Amino acid sequence: MLMEECGVFGTYLKEGNIAPSYVVEGLMALQHRGQEAAGVSYTKGEKIESFKELGTVGAIFNKKTLSNMKGKISIGHVRYSTKGTPDITGAQPFTANYANSSFSIAHNGQIENSEKLKNELEKKGIIFLTDSDTEIVLHLLVSKLRKSPDKWTLEEISKIIFENIGPSYSLIIMFKNRMIAIRDKKGYRPLSFYEDEHGYYFSSEDCGLRFLSPNMKKIRDVKPGEAIEITEKGVKNVQYETQKYSHCFFEHVYFSRPDSNVFGRNAHQMRERMGEQCAIENPVDADIVVPVMESGLSAAMGYSKMSGIPVEMGLIRNRYIGRTFIHPEQTERKIGVKRKLTPIYEVIKNKRIILVDDSIVRGTTMTEIVDLLRQYRAREVHVRISSPAVVSTCSWGVNIPDKKELIASQKNVKQIEKHINADSLGYLSLKGVRKILNFDHENYCLHCFIKNNLEE
Ligand code: SF4
Repeated sequence: MLMEECGVFGTYLKEGNIAPSYVVEGLMALQHRGQEAAGVSYTKGEKIESFKELGTVGAIFNKKTLSNMKGKISIGHVRYSTKGTPDITGAQPFTANYANSSFSIAHNGQIENSEKLKNELEKKGIIFLTDSDTEIVLHLLVSKLRKSPDKWTLEEISKIIFENIGPSYSLIIMFKNRMIAIRDKKGYRPLSFYEDEHGYYFSSEDCGLRFLSPNMKKIRDVKPGEAIEITEKGVKNVQYETQKYSHCFFEHVYFSRPDSNVFGRNAHQMRERMGEQCAIENPVDADIVVPVMESGLSAAMGYSKMSGIPVEMGLIRNRYIGRTFIHPEQTERKIGVKRKLTPIYEVIKNKRIILVDDSIVRGTTMTEIVDLLRQYRAREVHVRISSPAVVSTCSWGVNIPDKKELIASQKNVKQIEKHINADSLGYLSLKGVRKILNFDHENYCLHCFIKNNLEE
């Protein structure tokens, strides 16, 4: 399992001062994108205040904490540290006071050229207090614009971001009387925008806006290369020229919540299609299809539909523990799998099982799950993965380990099958992905499925 790469949410209310409450509600829906830390910035008179803590949104924010946060403009962030230390110094939003004014940034993504930018800024005498990429954005804007943030224009800000930061990010920047959202030129990460009679809202995924618009009407994507500014006058945007997109395919595989519509496609339905295609490519005779809860559920439904083999809940997931990969040590991960998943003996016993999950990264988790099923007397365990093998790492904000840790980078399918002790193993092919994307694959990043940039 891979980890998400943070989530951002922003609210600009036309009237009233409860924007932070909207933001916390939105962050709750984006919790799956990061559970290490969460934070909210909000306007307080002429100033911007921030409140951030380590932990989940529900644990950090309550009526008491929210009663102190009032403001018409607010942004928030849930964090998973793909880079930087997983401590409070990296928690977002980042707020800066500069030239008698202030601004605050919430950032989702990873800056590929961060070392170069940091070196250039340090040569100008700028001191970094954290190793977070977001601090680079903050200093870059200040060093290039050299005037009060109140006077920074949408055009100036977006030009600096689009021309210097590369390539994968969604950003929300708040000032004391306006808010700006920017999506990278290639559209790696999703970002949605919604307007209603009360105000304007941005969210990493549109599931964060569902509490405002249950039928999702009037929600639109911030376009790749688009920057949108909200002021008391309304909405203004600039569109940077962009030719080809690079949407992260892993948003469809795993990151996005099933009810989210990402890059114009519903996440659950996409996963179902991937499961169907996986069944076409990797048929096997068996009694039941069992999803690895919950990441493999939609794909297992697709596999079941296409194969005619019933889907059964053979594994239950304990919802009340942290995600396995939050623990840094391999041994803790192993313990985490057993704490997280329990087979249902009455369902598993003597069955030939097709076990469906979204991906295999190191192979540790899958080995443990196959072992668990065998302990519960499964007769056969056939593993089916609803995405292609992950063979390369990612430079665009997703915490994929080094190649030497990626099992599919080191072993072929037969060797992995043996390693995880499965009776058989099958992946969805890259060709299958292209078919599902209806040959829109040119606008997707599939880099982590391609070895040395050459297709297998
Ligand atoms: S390399 Fe993989 S995880 Fe990274 S952006 Fe591309 S598809 Fe997403």
